[in-house]
Amino acid sequence: MTSTVPRHSRSILGPELPVVREDDPFRREFRLWLTDHLPSDPEPSDPHEKIAFRRRWQRTLFEGGWAGPAWPAEYGGRGAGPLQQFMYYEELALARAPNLANEAGIVLLGPTLMVHGRDDLKERFLPGILSGEEIWSQGFSEPNAGSDLAALRTRARLDRGEWIINGQKIWTSWIHSATWSFVLCRTDPESRRHHGLSMLICELDQPEITTRPIIQMNRDSEFGEVFYDAARVPEDLIVGEPGEGWNVAMTMFQFERADQGFTDHARLLVQLDDMIGEFRRAQRESRMPAPEQSAARLTVAELWVRCQQLRQLNLRAAINAQAGAQVGAAGSMVKLFWSELEQDIAALRARVGWIEGLRDDSEIAYDHLASRATTIYSGTSEIQRNIVAERILGLPR
Ligand SMILES: Cc1cc2nc3c(=O)[nH]c(=O)nc-3n(C[C@H](O)[C@H](O)[C@H](O)COP(=O)(O)OP(=O)(O)OC[C@H]3O[C@@H](n4cnc5c(N)ncnc54)[C@H](O)[C@@H]3O)c2cc1C
Repeated sequence: MTSTVPRHSRSILGPELPVVREDDPFRREFRLWLTDHLPSDPEPSDPHEKIAFRRRWQRTLFEGGWAGPAWPAEYGGRGAGPLQQFMYYEELALARAPNLANEAGIVLLGPTLMVHGRDDLKERFLPGILSGEEIWSQGFSEPNAGSDLAALRTRARLDRGEWIINGQKIWTSWIHSATWSFVLCRTDPESRRHHGLSMLICELDQPEITTRPIIQMNRDSEFGEVFYDAARVPEDLIVGEPGEGWNVAMTMFQFERADQGFTDHARLLVQLDDMIGEFRRAQRESRMPAPEQSAARLTVAELWVRCQQLRQLNLRAAINAQAGAQVGAAGSMVKLFWSELEQDIAALRARVGWIEGLRDDSEIAYDHLASRATTIYSGTSEIQRNIVAERILGLPR
């Protein structure tokens, strides 16, 4: 596979940063590999074809040892440190590489298994997560337990060596392609709130599980409802000990919230770069009314500065992680900052697009509508602000 997609000028990333230099050997090696291996065909829009395309791409990365560079080599990674990860995501964005098929597995379950999973679980599941052979989904939210996750009512009880799950999950992303789900259940019927929960690993292909897609406003049905009617899970497919599910889920949230910013400043900068090119063309061809032009110039400049702030936040997180610090509540700050920036960039792209006569089935329109969800998933902005107020600033509840 050889790329025909134009790469972006490195200058869009902003000033050169000493610890993640452009000529760093890790960066150079990956950049070269990408040049030889990026898919040359565009990503299909049909959801099933899209997932097949992303699986092929993930497999290619896996075979090159690049699907999860931070993972240990024994599971298919290369033991890269946080600063190398920072550069990895910048290179992916500059090359406009497609997304992976198995984000819930790579970003959420894999790192959590490495912290809380038994060795046999790691050996059984980590390679399939990284290669994209097994696609994962996150079964946390329920109709009356989203922000207030501890209110969840899905139950599991042990019966002759198996957990029997009854209940309902909702907003489960990638459910149309997932083969497995990590499901947070109440396993101690006497318990309340965050006590007595467990995270079970559940194979989805069984008659006791039914799913129903939910259509989103961008016409996608990326998520859905999942009904568990005495679904079965072998007793040992549990992450952590029975009753420790809350602790396991909190570890996962830290990975989830930190990841979204960590991986994304360069992708947003590339989108801004596209928009700057579009402005220049519109200006040259006198296609843009003067008041619109000057308002948009200011907005682009402000958004670029915010992307640079996000880049600095991410770099700081990478430097801290390199020194062994946990992400902690600071992940909420990054998630909050990233999600609002993502929305504002998507809104500006749509505004510029509308001047040009935006089609409602275009990628820009799709991204704009999809971006409304960024301040909801992985914990809403209100929840992130509460975490920053209480855990970072020590304000009273
Ligand atoms: C695109 C998308 C993908 C998702 N994917 C998944 C997935 O794969 N797996 C999964 O388990 N879940 C997933 N979710 C669900 C997501 O985690 C929840 O939507 C989110 O946690 C909010 O829960 P809720 O929808 O029940 O809203 P609610 O919790 O009912 O919140 C409603 C409103 O009240 C506010 N609110 C609630 N509590 C407080 C408080 N204490 N203080 C201040 N304000 C508060 C919220 O901020 C929000 O504005 C996804 C959601 C979206 C939009």
